[in-house]
Amino acid sequence: MEDKEKSLKIEEDGRDSQEEDKDYEKVCYICRRPESKAGSMVSMPGKIYLCHDCMQKAFDALNQNGMDLGQIPNMPFMNLNIGDLSNFMRPDMAIPKKQKIKKKKEKEEQRSYTIQDIPAPHQIKHRLDEYVVGQEQAKKVMSVAVYNHYKRALLGNRDESDEITIEKSNILMVGPTGSGKTYLVKTLARLLDVPLAIADATSLTEAGYIGDDIESVVSKLLAAADNDVEKAERGIIFIDEIDKIAKKQQTNTRDVSGESVQQELLKLLEGSIVEVPVGSNQKNAMTPMATVNTDHILFICGGAFPDLEEIIRERLKRKSSMGFGGELKDTFDQDKQLLTKVENADLRKFGMIPEFLGRLPVTVALERPDKEFMMKVLSQPKNAILKQYEKLLAYDEVKLEFDQAALEWIAEEALKKDTGARALRAILEDFMLDIMYEIPKDPNIGAVIITRPYLEKRGGPRIEMRGAAVTAEHAYSRS
Ligand code: ADP
Repeated sequence: MEDKEKSLKIEEDGRDSQEEDKDYEKVCYICRRPESKAGSMVSMPGKIYLCHDCMQKAFDALNQNGMDLGQIPNMPFMNLNIGDLSNFMRPDMAIPKKQKIKKKKEKEEQRSYTIQDIPAPHQIKHRLDEYVVGQEQAKKVMSVAVYNHYKRALLGNRDESDEITIEKSNILMVGPTGSGKTYLVKTLARLLDVPLAIADATSLTEAGYIGDDIESVVSKLLAAADNDVEKAERGIIFIDEIDKIAKKQQTNTRDVSGESVQQELLKLLEGSIVEVPVGSNQKNAMTPMATVNTDHILFICGGAFPDLEEIIRERLKRKSSMGFGGELKDTFDQDKQLLTKVENADLRKFGMIPEFLGRLPVTVALERPDKEFMMKVLSQPKNAILKQYEKLLAYDEVKLEFDQAALEWIAEEALKKDTGARALRAILEDFMLDIMYEIPKDPNIGAVIITRPYLEKRGGPRIEMRGAAVTAEHAYSRS
């Protein structure tokens, strides 16, 4: 009886994994090439597949040298005893799921994307507005760039009749820390339903150095697309901290991390065919490789460019001293939004090489967060932090409110930290912890109003009891 159950279970498991496997490509056990490249595979017990080339090489080697498998190039287990098939069936030798490559869909199964699938720029912007506050110009520029990018991807970038080639509209985002660069890109990818990979330029190194190869960003995108190459080829790659790979000024030493990384990125940015390891950022004999064309991948590079403002200021001052009088110069010193006046020449001076900038034809500058911006971030977006806390307390049937002065206090505190909107959550968490702890203690509390005196530790929050129109300052205050 038990045996029967066991065999039924094994059968079911077998079926499950067969179901699961049918969407993935078979990969040759020896050369690790997928079926789409190496041709049809010979199946062996234990889900081992061999391509015809490797099979042939194995036979040749056996014919010439008996059982010396060391003769077979790339053979990962040179001392494997091929006569003992139980060796082959060891589960740890199977390819882990995250390294499996999704099969290309059959023609009729393939959902063909048309231009109707891409929302028009005003629609993209409209949807971004729901989540991303302010940054109007940036949202507008990005909506157009993204629309053009996908139009180019869908309709082809070259019309043979007029020989006009549409170039890629990769984007360079310049904006202070916490101004919403990553958030904007994440929101965009979610709205467009395309896979997104976020990489840090500082971790990228020239091939052969310690760190991630440039192509590892494509591997990441492939992983985000469930190893579906076609899906990855429509995705977005966001490379953050791009300012950190600026060419170092006045150095005589070879610059391995900066300029050369920019050089290596060029090929990816403009569109090329790359071989990337699947499910890993390191190439080795054991990882299957996939071929990805980066031509339709949208690259967005972002950075805070800390000293760029000084470069822009200098340029503007130089220009104004040639034209109008001196009083204008002071306005540049006061201007908090200098980054939005960035030009290509400024970025070149900063240390970005011209070829690199040429591959990022769209420049977007984000505004530096100010008090008003911070207050909006707190309360306006669809998933604003305040709305999240309100919802949490609503589960206890308690209404949470913030008075205007309290919001101003939070925004002012966040500005002091100089990390943009990123500071807001930590500030809120700090005092909301007490509220979330104390309020559910008393089931009669119907509403709690956060006031500025409470935040400044000069009193308690205002409390309204259920049913009665009594408002009282709560006895406890922040410690
Ligand atoms: P950056 O990448 O520019 O350093 P982030 O995108 O990581 O900044 O922003 C940090 C957090 O601040 C985001 O997770 C988001 O919650 C919030 N935030 C920043 N800018 C905005 C914005 N314009 N609208 C709504 N929330 C924002």
